[in-house]
Amino acid sequence: MNLLYFILVNKPPLKLNLKPLNFEEPTKTNTEKQPFASKDINPISSRPTSSTSNHRDLSTGQLHLSDAKIYKFTSNDLIDRGIVGEGNFGIVCKMEHEKSGTIMAVKRIRSTVDERCQKQMLNELDIVMRENTCPHIVKFFGALFKEGDCWICMELMDTSLDRFYKFVYHKLHQCIPESVLAYITLATLEALDYIKSLWQIIHRDVKPSNILVSRSAIKLCDFGISGQLIDSIAKTRDAGCRPYLPPERIDPLRATRDGYDVRSDVWSLGITIYEISTGYFPFREWTSVFDQLQQIVEGPPLRLNVDRLSNNCKDFVNTCLNKDENQRPKYKTLLEHQFVRKATTSQQAENTAAYLSEIVDGLSENTDTFELYYYLPSDTAASFNSR
Ligand code: ATP
Ligand code: MG
Repeated sequence: MNLLYFILVNKPPLKLNLKPLNFEEPTKTNTEKQPFASKDINPISSRPTSSTSNHRDLSTGQLHLSDAKIYKFTSNDLIDRGIVGEGNFGIVCKMEHEKSGTIMAVKRIRSTVDERCQKQMLNELDIVMRENTCPHIVKFFGALFKEGDCWICMELMDTSLDRFYKFVYHKLHQCIPESVLAYITLATLEALDYIKSLWQIIHRDVKPSNILVSRSAIKLCDFGISGQLIDSIAKTRDAGCRPYLPPERIDPLRATRDGYDVRSDVWSLGITIYEISTGYFPFREWTSVFDQLQQIVEGPPLRLNVDRLSNNCKDFVNTCLNKDENQRPKYKTLLEHQFVRKATTSQQAENTAAYLSEIVDGLSENTDTFELYYYLPSDTAASFNSR
């Protein structure tokens, strides 16, 4: 579960570190750019919240397709073109915005938050939508509430990294080339660094299904939209059902520690890269929270150790998987690591795009669904090494 879901389900008192938007009725015209009046209004948390003092109609949103194409819209303006995927908290549909003919992904999340939180969420999404200049973050178009459910419109990508890697390893019986792994890592790191540096957002749900793939790009999605949250509540809710959580988020002895550090996301990134490097989630299937705790907190440190992969790659992943979060580097340091430095050339981006295209083509004809393969058995490691 990520922070966005948490906001929807828990109605937390949120505090933004982002610059707020001018809070007014969406434009009626569809071509004028809205001014980004960030300096002259109060922070969202200090605004009046009663419905009489704030007239925003939550079932009407603003669809910001580009700076020149802005539409006021409701759910009636969107035509459902089928389900793209399903998560634990809602579904993602392919939809067409009838007036512009734009195809998009619309994520619909069941919500129980009150109107004040809904308004705040829409404002926060608006800000993220307008300020996003990172090529590795999925583009947001707009959001609204319909019958209490939040609809988030974003760019439609071809697939997610979890489907992508499972197809490569378990259907094609191939491995993702290390140069592509390095590029995916670089893209994800840059996106994580961007949301932290510019928006003070910690993702909290880094995993393959939240990294999206198109024929030419890798993009991060599903990050929370608030700077601060009461960490202990998130912890009690989430422990047990979140396989990408690091030891410090699971260990009850450290439960009272304040704050959620980016280095928890670094651990999740390590698990993610391990998984896409081998085709396997690196732990056995847990039967209980205790089981997870035993393996992650009390078990020996997890090490990626596959001969096929370079020392650079293994060192990067193993650094992210340090059980002591204080020993885990943050993004800026990781971005200097040789494993990702090598992926920064334009040649590398082109080669990756060619590879992504080829796999996405194959995947678009695939009808199989893939399960999660747990643990990397030693005999499988041997067979992967020889490929
Ligand atoms: P969880 O609910 O546990 O976080 P999840 O990330 O798989 O899991 P969702 O975020 O609801 O759940 O997404 C469901 C699926 O929809 C994803 O696995 C992904 O394959 C697909 N998906 C999500 N967003 C997009 C998008 N913008 N373009 C294309 N596919 C998408
Ligand atoms: Mg997701």
